[in-house]
Amino acid sequence: MKDCIFCRIARGDIPSSKVYETERVVAFDDINPMAPVHVIVIPKEHIATLMEITETEGGLMTEIVAAVQEAARLKGVDRTGFRVVVNCNEDGGQVIFHLHVHVLGGRKLQDELG
Ligand code: 5GP
Ligand code: ZN
Repeated sequence: MKDCIFCRIARGDIPSSKVYETERVVAFDDINPMAPVHVIVIPKEHIATLMEITETEGGLMTEIVAAVQEAARLKGVDRTGFRVVVNCNEDGGQVIFHLHVHVLGGRKLQDELG
Protein backbone atom coordinates (compact mmCIF):
# COMPACT_ATOMS: atom_id res chain seq x y z
CA MET A 1 0.00 0.00 0.00
CA LYS A 2 1.98 2.90 -1.38
CA ASP A 3 0.15 5.71 0.38
CA CYS A 4 -0.65 4.05 3.70
CA ILE A 5 0.97 6.11 6.45
CA PHE A 6 2.02 3.09 8.54
CA CYS A 7 3.42 1.28 5.47
CA ARG A 8 5.48 4.41 4.85
CA ILE A 9 6.69 4.43 8.46
CA ALA A 10 7.54 0.71 8.16
CA ARG A 11 9.59 1.44 5.03
CA GLY A 12 11.27 4.43 6.66
CA ASP A 13 9.79 6.88 4.12
CA ILE A 14 8.25 8.84 7.00
CA PRO A 15 10.49 9.37 10.02
CA SER A 16 9.38 7.91 13.33
CA SER A 17 10.88 7.39 16.74
CA LYS A 18 11.47 3.66 16.47
CA VAL A 19 11.44 1.68 19.70
CA TYR A 20 11.98 -1.83 18.36
CA GLU A 21 12.08 -3.59 15.01
CA THR A 22 12.24 -7.12 13.64
CA GLU A 23 11.91 -8.52 10.13
CA ARG A 24 8.12 -8.53 10.37
CA VAL A 25 7.13 -5.87 12.91
CA VAL A 26 7.99 -2.32 13.99
CA ALA A 27 7.26 -0.46 17.23
CA PHE A 28 7.43 3.34 17.34
CA ASP A 29 6.26 6.23 19.52
CA ASP A 30 2.79 7.59 18.80
CA ILE A 31 2.99 11.12 17.39
CA ASN A 32 0.16 12.26 19.69
CA PRO A 33 0.75 10.35 22.93
CA MET A 34 -2.20 9.77 25.27
CA ALA A 35 0.09 8.63 28.11
CA PRO A 36 3.78 9.04 29.07
CA VAL A 37 4.38 5.77 27.20
CA HIS A 38 2.39 5.38 23.99
CA VAL A 39 3.93 2.99 21.53
CA ILE A 40 2.36 1.72 18.31
CA VAL A 41 3.23 -1.79 17.15
CA ILE A 42 2.52 -2.72 13.53
CA PRO A 43 3.19 -5.57 11.15
CA LYS A 44 5.34 -4.39 8.22
CA GLU A 45 2.93 -6.17 5.93
CA HIS A 46 -0.20 -4.15 5.15
CA ILE A 47 -3.15 -5.71 6.95
CA ALA A 48 -6.07 -3.30 7.21
CA THR A 49 -7.80 -4.35 10.42
CA LEU A 50 -7.91 -7.01 13.10
CA MET A 51 -10.68 -8.65 11.07
CA GLU A 52 -8.20 -9.37 8.27
CA ILE A 53 -5.96 -11.51 10.49
CA THR A 54 -6.27 -15.17 9.52
CA GLU A 55 -4.49 -18.39 10.38
CA THR A 56 -2.40 -18.04 7.22
CA GLU A 57 -0.64 -15.10 8.89
CA GLY A 58 1.79 -17.63 10.34
CA GLY A 59 2.25 -16.49 13.89
CA LEU A 60 2.18 -12.79 13.14
CA MET A 61 0.06 -11.96 16.20
CA THR A 62 2.53 -13.87 18.36
CA GLU A 63 5.32 -11.71 16.94
CA ILE A 64 3.27 -8.60 17.56
CA VAL A 65 2.74 -9.66 21.18
CA ALA A 66 6.47 -10.33 21.54
CA ALA A 67 7.13 -6.80 20.22
CA VAL A 68 4.60 -5.38 22.70
CA GLN A 69 6.49 -7.14 25.50
CA GLU A 70 9.84 -5.88 24.26
CA ALA A 71 8.54 -2.31 23.85
CA ALA A 72 7.15 -2.46 27.41
CA ARG A 73 10.55 -3.59 28.69
CA LEU A 74 12.44 -0.94 26.73
CA LYS A 75 10.06 1.78 27.98
CA GLY A 76 10.29 0.51 31.57
CA VAL A 77 6.60 -0.30 32.03
CA ASP A 78 6.84 -4.09 31.95
CA ARG A 79 6.53 -4.26 35.75
CA THR A 80 4.35 -1.22 36.44
CA GLY A 81 1.86 -2.30 33.79
CA PHE A 82 0.32 -1.02 30.62
CA ARG A 83 -2.76 -1.30 28.46
CA VAL A 84 -2.96 -2.81 25.00
CA VAL A 85 -5.64 -1.45 22.66
CA VAL A 86 -6.59 -2.41 19.12
CA ASN A 87 -9.21 -0.19 17.54
CA CYS A 88 -11.14 -1.98 14.81
CA ASN A 89 -13.20 -0.21 12.16
CA GLU A 90 -15.40 2.82 12.59
CA ASP A 91 -17.16 2.16 15.89
CA GLY A 92 -13.87 1.01 17.40
CA GLY A 93 -12.37 4.40 16.55
CA GLN A 94 -9.85 3.13 14.00
CA VAL A 95 -8.43 6.06 12.04
CA ILE A 96 -5.48 4.42 10.29
CA PHE A 97 -6.42 1.31 8.37
CA HIS A 98 -3.19 -0.58 8.87
CA LEU A 99 -3.45 -2.97 11.81
CA HIS A 100 -1.78 -1.53 14.90
CA VAL A 101 -1.60 -2.16 18.62
CA HIS A 102 -1.45 0.74 21.07
CA VAL A 103 0.72 0.20 24.17
CA LEU A 104 -0.18 2.75 26.85
CA GLY A 105 1.53 3.15 30.20
CA GLY A 106 3.61 5.32 32.48
CA ARG A 107 0.60 6.52 34.44
CA LYS A 108 -2.38 4.98 36.16
CA LEU A 109 -4.91 4.58 33.38
CA GLN A 110 -8.54 5.33 34.12
CA ASP A 111 -11.55 3.72 32.52
CA GLU A 112 -10.94 5.17 29.08
CA LEU A 113 -12.60 2.50 26.99
CA GLY A 114 -15.15 4.98 25.70
P1 5GP B 1 -6.19 4.63 15.61
O1 5GP B 1 -7.20 5.62 16.06
O2 5GP B 1 -6.25 4.36 14.13
O3 5GP B 1 -6.24 3.37 16.44
O4 5GP B 1 -4.79 5.27 15.97
C1 5GP B 1 -3.91 5.84 15.07
C2 5GP B 1 -2.77 6.39 15.88
O5 5GP B 1 -1.71 6.72 15.02
C3 5GP B 1 -3.12 7.67 16.66
O6 5GP B 1 -2.86 7.46 18.04
C4 5GP B 1 -2.20 8.73 16.04
O7 5GP B 1 -1.71 9.65 17.00
C5 5GP B 1 -1.08 7.89 15.46
N1 5GP B 1 -0.45 8.50 14.29
C6 5GP B 1 -1.08 9.04 13.21
N2 5GP B 1 -0.19 9.49 12.31
C7 5GP B 1 1.03 9.23 12.81
C8 5GP B 1 2.36 9.47 12.32
O8 5GP B 1 2.60 10.01 11.23
N3 5GP B 1 3.38 9.06 13.12
C9 5GP B 1 3.16 8.46 14.33
N4 5GP B 1 4.24 8.11 15.04
N5 5GP B 1 1.93 8.21 14.81
C10 5GP B 1 0.87 8.58 14.07
ZN1 ZN C 1 -0.23 -0.07 5.44
